[in-house]
Amino acid sequence: MTAAKYRWVRAPEWCPGCGHFGVLQAVYNAFAELDLDPAKTVLVSGIGCSSRLPHYVKTVSLHAIHGRAVPYAMGIKLANPSLEVVVVGGDGDLMAIGGNHLLHLGRRNVDMAVILMDNSVYGLTRGQAGPTLPAGLKVKAVPKPNLQTEINPLLLALTAGFTYIARSYSYDIKYTARLIAEAIRHRGSAFVHVYSPCVTYNNIMTREWYEKRVYKLEEADPQWDPVVRHEGETEAKIRKALDKIVEVDRLPLGVFYKNELVPTFEEKYRAVYDSTYGNTPPPLQPIARDGKPAVDLEKLVADRLL
Ligand code: SF4
Ligand code: MG
Repeated sequence: MTAAKYRWVRAPEWCPGCGHFGVLQAVYNAFAELDLDPAKTVLVSGIGCSSRLPHYVKTVSLHAIHGRAVPYAMGIKLANPSLEVVVVGGDGDLMAIGGNHLLHLGRRNVDMAVILMDNSVYGLTRGQAGPTLPAGLKVKAVPKPNLQTEINPLLLALTAGFTYIARSYSYDIKYTARLIAEAIRHRGSAFVHVYSPCVTYNNIMTREWYEKRVYKLEEADPQWDPVVRHEGETEAKIRKALDKIVEVDRLPLGVFYKNELVPTFEEKYRAVYDSTYGNTPPPLQPIARDGKPAVDLEKLVADRLL
């Protein structure tokens, strides 16, 4: 499918110039590159401006409740491991109310991707300080400088155990699409942190602000290699990733860490509990009454996507 084929009929309800448009286009491009089947791809979000994204993509989607996109998505993936499951959300949704869930996804290493669209404010509720807003900054909707220390999403993701960790910038659509596609392809829990400026409420961390600071890891260091290829180099690769993740004056973009040697939750479940897990997941079993199919689920999904 082409990128345009993933576009849903509904036009995005975002302010003109919002960084989220870039992430949306990157999602279309990544899905097209991977040729994802819309009926077997599930986008899950919580609440916030960014969490509207699944409304604009022609796949199965769930716009869940605030902060709970990750547990819904884990449930969907574990109920039917053949699905491609992607979570999208903002810094408020995934780092504050949903922060706990994100940690536990990382340590489980369920095979799915999370895209964090970070603008450091709660855009939907008119610009309050989000959990990634640096301490001391005063964005226009708050009366005083931010008193709270900011969360570093990549540091959190690495500590939690995510096995693919990357960062992009939403106005660089091509690069963002590449990292999203890699995250989806990755075997294990993948986390992509995207700087996605809020043009309406974050008057400090603007496009100009980011463009003065961002740089690409592989351009700054052509030897940059974040992939763990054997267990002996895991610690060294984590230390190299950490070294870059803690940079704050300049903001590195790219893949910080990738390790497919860690077994996924699904693989561990198969090894410990049930070697047949995933072969006939409940959602693929026919719903039957007296031996006759009662509901055609595939038809229901196909109708929704017409
Ligand atoms: Fe985007 Fe901010 Fe407008 Fe929300 S309020 S749509 S985050 S620019
Ligand atoms: Mg936000």
